[in-house]
Amino acid sequence: MATRRGLLAAGGLATVAGSARAQTPSPAVMVSTWDFGRAANAAGLERRRAGGSALDMVEAGGRVVEADGGNGSVGFGGMPDRDGRVTLDACVMDWAGGIGAVAALEDVVHAVSVARAVMEKTPHWMLVGTGAREFAVAQGFPTQSLLTPEAEAAWRRWLETSEYAPRPNSENGGWASMPGGENNHDTIGLLALDQAGRMAGACTTSGMAFKMRGRVGDSPIVGAGLFVDDAVGGATATGVGEDVVRVAGSHAVVEAMRHGMDPAAACRSVIERLARLRGTQVAGHQVALLALDKAGRAGGFALQPGFTYAVTDAAGETRIVRAGALFA
Ligand code: ASP
Repeated sequence: MATRRGLLAAGGLATVAGSARAQTPSPAVMVSTWDFGRAANAAGLERRRAGGSALDMVEAGGRVVEADGGNGSVGFGGMPDRDGRVTLDACVMDWAGGIGAVAALEDVVHAVSVARAVMEKTPHWMLVGTGAREFAVAQGFPTQSLLTPEAEAAWRRWLETSEYAPRPNSENGGWASMPGGENNHDTIGLLALDQAGRMAGACTTSGMAFKMRGRVGDSPIVGAGLFVDDAVGGATATGVGEDVVRVAGSHAVVEAMRHGMDPAAACRSVIERLARLRGTQVAGHQVALLALDKAGRAGGFALQPGFTYAVTDAAGETRIVRAGALFA
């Protein structure tokens, strides 16, 4: 997988510091967190061209990253918890207020699709742990070990100290696949507009590396890791989930857009709110927010420098944009 350093070398990274310049020249129809959002958006655009819904788009994008065993923060190949088990959190939300989620799901790669199945085939919005796994199996989802040899080796190295500490992406190195990467957590959050102009979002992650067994982050929590209001736009989050939940991050961004802020300014306002609330307690943490409004304007903002996101227009052109940061 390409690192941000590689993209810089290839001249493929658009550096955008301010909110006004963060707008795409042509309206975006899909945005996803981090550099790996590029491959996700490509899959989403394929679905769009085939007449798929916004929900089909974000599901397809999430599945690409979930299946990538080289990505240590999502799906197969994700870092395990402190007991050596990979547990996945995911949710989806559509234009009509449809919501579905799974948390602490084991042995099933495509958590985003299980979340969608919860939405479409149950009277509930979230299933967790063994119940989520049993539901997935009953729905015909295959099971397999999600722990790659590389992730297991990283966990065994971690056991030597067993010190839990979220490590943010570095400014220049960006997201790097664990093991050996500097970062030990990420999420793919996706927002899309289909040909009918309807918006949907998805969010999928293996959560914080070496978390406590049973820990659930923000990513499957509607309003925190993801929120969509088809009248306004959507937002998604990546970073330390405990911090995102404190400010109901994605919902707060959508509400700021509802009151007139552009996506980047809305994300910035919520990051600033978190910093006011927690002060030095978030100094070493990464929290990043990404938003897309109904006009196709995209924007993001983060606590720490180095957060990137992929922006794709209806023609399938994708730019990797570097968000502004509070601690820049
Ligand atoms: N938000 C994820 C979690 O807390 C991790 C991340 O996106 O970095 O589980």
